[in-house]
Amino acid sequence: MSLLSIVVPCYNEEETVDLFYASLTKVVDQMDLEYEVIFVNDGSKDSTLEKMLALYKAHPGVVRVIDFSRNFGKEGALLAGLRAAKGDYVTVMDADLQDPPEYIPKMFEVMEKNGNDVVGTRRVSRKGEPKIRSWFARKFYKLINRFTEVEIVDGARDFRLMKRQVVDAILSLKEYGRFSKGLFVWVGFKCEYLEYENIKRVAGETKWSFVKLLRYALDGIIEYTDMPLWIISWVGGFLTVIMLVFLLVLLVLSLLGKALSSTVLIIAVVLFMGGIILLSTGILGEYLAKTYDEVRGRPNYIIRKFYE
Ligand code: UDP
Ligand code: MG
Repeated sequence: MSLLSIVVPCYNEEETVDLFYASLTKVVDQMDLEYEVIFVNDGSKDSTLEKMLALYKAHPGVVRVIDFSRNFGKEGALLAGLRAAKGDYVTVMDADLQDPPEYIPKMFEVMEKNGNDVVGTRRVSRKGEPKIRSWFARKFYKLINRFTEVEIVDGARDFRLMKRQVVDAILSLKEYGRFSKGLFVWVGFKCEYLEYENIKRVAGETKWSFVKLLRYALDGIIEYTDMPLWIISWVGGFLTVIMLVFLLVLLVLSLLGKALSSTVLIIAVVLFMGGIILLSTGILGEYLAKTYDEVRGRPNYIIRKFYE
């Protein structure tokens, strides 16, 4: 029988862990396969770990728990879970039941029928989410897809069923900056998406503030394209030409004895240029910082204890 690994990153999910496990097992118990559930406790400050350990004791051999030394972020938790997964098939799920377990058998069905290597899910609506957040999210997908070689599907969730080969491909990517939405697509393979309406989390709160999401989006852009560098080069070139013309005009005017009183103009130009230069330096800095992160080669997470 084949083995399905279910990876669940959790940060302060004391309210949802039990609910999640109950609805998950209700579905997978019906299926003709063995499964393991890998909970990753991403430095929760509440009793998430205790809840996980209770499940671990109650279901030996099925539940495994990775406990991080602190909060490293969802990407780190996801990576640890994928590394630990032993299954022939692997799926990643949020603990808050926003990823409906009923979709697991559906994903298997589609995978079998169409011979896919991956079956993903995407939200076709963003109901129950702040409007402004949805607006930024849509713009983000437009922007990143315009400049990247891979198509990051709008609304695609991390909830996906992958064959072993795909997981190995993802794990073979060694970068520190792990923008999983991109990595999942970058590795390729035959993939199909199931669609569903947005579902509200059963309990607890979202861990993503607007600022955190914005940072995440910027990281994605920096890690996947050099488009911002390309833009500043063009802006720089364009401004150089304008400035040359401007200087020529000033020269001609002063030769004709008609020098402008151009203090205000000059101040405006200086401020404008200063702004562009600072912005460009900032963008360069972002790339430099990412390069520094990669070169330093720190681990994405540290495990305090692995319960298995
Ligand atoms: N999560 C995590 N580490 C973090 C933030 C979130 O492991 O630093 C987990 C969280 O517990 C949940 C999943 O990632 O299982 C998705 O988070 P959340 O539901 O808050 O995000 P949203 O669905 O609102 O985008
Ligand atoms: Mg959620």
